[in-house]
Amino acid sequence: MNTALEITNLRYRYHDGTEALRGVTFRVAPGECVGLLGPNGSGKSTVLLHLNGLLPDKPGLDGTVRIFGQSVTPESIETIRHQVGLLFQDPDDQLFCPTVEEDVAFGPQQLGLEDAVVETRVRRALAQVGLADYGSRATHHLSHGEKRRACLAGVLACEPLVLALDEPTSDLDPRGRREFKALLRRIDATKIIATHDLELVAELCSRAIVLDHGLVVADGPVLTLLNDEQLMLAHDLERPHILRHHHPHSDDSA
Ligand code: ADP
Ligand code: MG
Repeated sequence: MNTALEITNLRYRYHDGTEALRGVTFRVAPGECVGLLGPNGSGKSTVLLHLNGLLPDKPGLDGTVRIFGQSVTPESIETIRHQVGLLFQDPDDQLFCPTVEEDVAFGPQQLGLEDAVVETRVRRALAQVGLADYGSRATHHLSHGEKRRACLAGVLACEPLVLALDEPTSDLDPRGRREFKALLRRIDATKIIATHDLELVAELCSRAIVLDHGLVVADGPVLTLLNDEQLMLAHDLERPHILRHHHPHSDDSA
């Protein structure tokens, strides 16, 4: 298959000796939206950090990560970062400029784009996330949901081909979650979403990958995986309520 990203036998040990990834392999085709599931500590964030080389060549690293065929190495990292946009789990780790527009402009400026182009991209990205009038607002005064959207605008302004999202709906209220979901649906990039929000996965992703203890334990169509009660239980996951309606008899054995 044509691949947007390809991870092959990826192993990663943090400097304190923690084996976060123990040989992870999977591919994602262009345009796919994949849910990355698994309990806390299973390695989801570590996988995402490797996609744009935030955990570069180190003694604890083995295996390969390719983005559109190009291997992520210290030499290719500049190009790779133009292609992969990563939304951190905590917006406060991502926002660091005083105002929203400065923050959203930072990425495109790093790409070396002309001021006029940066300005256009900032305006477009803010409109895309529903923050068109927020440009001059102070980032640290935004609500949590607004911070999330401001971060996403910053990532979108770089026009990435691959979007990696780390628990994008955690800590959002129901409306915030609904809005964020609608927003993600409108984005064309290849998406990989690490999340515990299985409703989001059921609605947005065609495929899911389950990690546990640094290994891929399942990879397949979303509905097949989410409806596999044994698999879900074995890895501390829970079938979302929206699916229960479709399987009125499946709770009989409980
Ligand atoms: P998840 O995102 O699925 O919760 P992580 O990728 O954050 O999992 O963590 C995978 C494993 O690596 C866990 O055992 C975690 O404790 C460990 N880990 C994560 N970040 C670090 C770090 N900076 N230093 C040491 N160990 C880490
Ligand atoms: Mg994580």
